[in-house]
Amino acid sequence: MKRILVTGGAGFIGSHLCKRLLDEGNYVICLDNFFTGSIENIEKLQKHPHFELVEHDITEEYFTVIDQIYNLACPASPPHYQYNPVKTIRTSVMGIINMLELANKYGATLLQASTSEIYGDPLVHPQTESYWGNVNPIGVRSCYDEGKRCAETLMMDYRRQFGTDVKIVRIFNTYGPNMHPNDGRVVSNFIVQALRGDDITIYGNGNQTRSFCYISDLVEGLVRMMNTPNFTGPVNLGNPEERTIKDLASLIIELIHSKSKLVFKPLPSDDPVKRKPDITLAGDKLKWNPAIDIQDGLKETIEYFKNKITV
Ligand code: NAD
Ligand code: UDP
Repeated sequence: MKRILVTGGAGFIGSHLCKRLLDEGNYVICLDNFFTGSIENIEKLQKHPHFELVEHDITEEYFTVIDQIYNLACPASPPHYQYNPVKTIRTSVMGIINMLELANKYGATLLQASTSEIYGDPLVHPQTESYWGNVNPIGVRSCYDEGKRCAETLMMDYRRQFGTDVKIVRIFNTYGPNMHPNDGRVVSNFIVQALRGDDITIYGNGNQTRSFCYISDLVEGLVRMMNTPNFTGPVNLGNPEERTIKDLASLIIELIHSKSKLVFKPLPSDDPVKRKPDITLAGDKLKWNPAIDIQDGLKETIEYFKNKITV
């Protein structure tokens, strides 16, 4: 039985990952400060004899005997990571140093949840891992983007300097059950608005694009990456099916048979114009490809939110 630490384990992705790792027979330590995570996401897991919850902030040191670490702790939604930007960058930078020290001490493998945001507003499309990105270092998204870029740097420097076993995954927009109704990201916002019959808030003209990956596909990619020896990455994980935000809104309205209307709000600054992963590397090295079509993924997510919110 492996001892596995999942930081941010009470969050959206972390809670699915904890479940998957428990189902595979591991001992799972879920570490979280509950900034955006919720106890409801892990309520069922807490009954499992091999699940341990540690309420802790990764900006502070943490040591335990451990085989693998998935470092997911960090607010991921723009309104949440911009709420306390200094804390966000501390979480990425101090947090990864603390996890690298932990990995070093016990010879563990450390996987960092990096992000497509490290490509900024990309000038290369689709984005390949070899692209260095186009990031504003002083804007409102920088606390997240630059924090994640610095975490990647620290991962590679620890590897070169101390031989730490590290793995970097660049996650593209992922959605599914266990997102918080007030998360603020586009899929959860649109579904909650459509279920309530509220206006659908499109930022800008809605022609910007994103590529949406369903949670089960993403978790499969994370586990494959962790268990593929001699491959540090970085590797992109995401669904390459690209669509405009306006199209996403129409699809959600159609699936819910909602009467909601589209309203247009100002585009937040530095909002990337387009985003789509090149996943050739993940296909080659991890034999990974997303399997869940957006219609099916959205239907599952809509069912989850129907039970979650009071309309
Ligand atoms: P989330 O906000 O649902 O989960 C983040 C979790 O980290 C929460 O449980 C939160 O309470 C916890 N956390 C935040 N700061 C912490 C700290 N200082 N110490 C301990 N715990 C802390 O977000 P998510 O979508 O599940 O994202 C998980 C990870 O994946 C993040 O690192 C995020 O940057 C990365 N990521 C996610 C996406 C996506 O589309 N979901 C895309 C790219 C990268
Ligand atoms: N967006 C939107 N309405 C919303 C929330 C987001 O139009 O209610 C837009 C946002 O401006 C961005 C895209 O949807 O262009 C994806 O936003 P999200 O916050 O989900 O992720 P990110 O910008 O980090 O990719």
